[in-house]
Amino acid sequence: MILPGGTIGILGGGQLGRMLAIAAAQLGYRVIGYAPEDDAVIAQVCNEYISAEWHDAAALEAFAARCDVVTLEFENVPAAPLDAIADKLAPHPRALAVAQDRLAGKRFVKELGGTPAAFHAVESRADLLAGIHAVGAPAILKTRRDGYDGKGQWRIASREEAEALDLPDQPCVLEGFVTFECEFSVILARREDGTVAFWESPQNGHEDGILARSTLPGAQIIGQQVAEARKLAQAVAERLGYVGVLTLEFFAGEHGPIFNEMAPRTHNSGHWTIEGAATSQFENQIRAICGLPLGDTRRVAPRVVMENVIGPAAATAHEALADPGAHLHLYGKTDAPQGRKMGHITRLEWPEEDRSQ
Ligand code: AMP
Repeated sequence: MILPGGTIGILGGGQLGRMLAIAAAQLGYRVIGYAPEDDAVIAQVCNEYISAEWHDAAALEAFAARCDVVTLEFENVPAAPLDAIADKLAPHPRALAVAQDRLAGKRFVKELGGTPAAFHAVESRADLLAGIHAVGAPAILKTRRDGYDGKGQWRIASREEAEALDLPDQPCVLEGFVTFECEFSVILARREDGTVAFWESPQNGHEDGILARSTLPGAQIIGQQVAEARKLAQAVAERLGYVGVLTLEFFAGEHGPIFNEMAPRTHNSGHWTIEGAATSQFENQIRAICGLPLGDTRRVAPRVVMENVIGPAAATAHEALADPGAHLHLYGKTDAPQGRKMGHITRLEWPEEDRSQ
């Protein structure tokens, strides 16, 4: 067990790391952040920040030597340099190997009995055309690595479009287009001894490929499919010997949950847990990696809605606080271009008659 007063290292410098560092500080830990950027937003809230490249093995090892445990808020860290610090890492780097690569993730999940959308590996035009034949059109071509928030994705309506597409210069996977009623995520925390806690699954709404909002409770169909989705998420966590918070995203399809992707970390669709659950995803991530007991994950208000604050909307986001049930989180980013996640607002909603008490 790593007791409060110990030092937690966080790989990655974005908002997830920032909220993780805040949760660690609450529990009395010291935090050292590590990321390549000079001005990472985690640096505003942690004890120390190291700006160094992912490939700088000496800097990584020196950083890990000063930490009792190292976790991550960003999965696209090159896996090879992490091997040298694997004994300090939670989750273990083997979780990154499947989460960094969409194709590896889909194969892994399929092997465990899960159902991804129909998929086909694509490295050439011939593969793409064979893929369209196999999965049908419309379909979505995605880069295997480094895609996020809808980036690195191309919708292909027909074989003609596939023939004309300017192919990306990296390995891809073609996915059949899924028709679904809604999207949801399963977020769990797992300790080394195998104890697992799930949060309620939010219904996730995307706009332009970016998460716009998470709502709880979600649509009825989520309640019907969540047991199967959780079973898969737990199998993934067990197979990986996973320690920390793990997220799997699903489409609620006509015949059951369809796996979309996984993240070996806390997730945007879990931000609602900061005020909306008895224990947040960030606090339980810290508890899990330090070997402390996991906290109660129950929702604490009849309805919880988390909305992302994206791009220039950040300038007026504070106006949401006119609603006393609203909680504003801004991530300390100075540039607010279109499409950048700047913050989020979580609203706890009670029926009108309960509010006045
Ligand atoms: P992703 O980055 O893979 O999570 O994709 C971003 C969003 O695009 C998803 O949350 C869905 O709304 C949509 N999407 C991705 N893949 C598919 C698919 N195979 N079929 C239908 N919609 C998809």
